[in-house]
Amino acid sequence: MNQGLGWLPVIVVLVLGIAMAWSGTNGNNMWLLGFGVFEIIIGLLGVYAISKRSRQKVEIKRCPECDEPVASGDELCPKCGFKLS
Ligand SMILES: [Zn+2]
Repeated sequence: MNQGLGWLPVIVVLVLGIAMAWSGTNGNNMWLLGFGVFEIIIGLLGVYAISKRSRQKVEIKRCPECDEPVASGDELCPKCGFKLS
């Protein structure tokens, strides 16, 4: 549902990092280049974290009645008592 929300800051950091590294390369500015590369690494870590999180999210079962996360072995929702089958 809010899975797409986490992507925005990661994309912003990646685009900013690429732009900073690019202009650092053109302007021969090592500080700008270094900071750009740093931002790209942070962005890639964010991509890794999000893809890992979204994989885990698939395995989490939710109650169709109240959207409460339930264990896969549960037969009844712990929150609303909806019968899970
Ligand atoms: Zn429920």
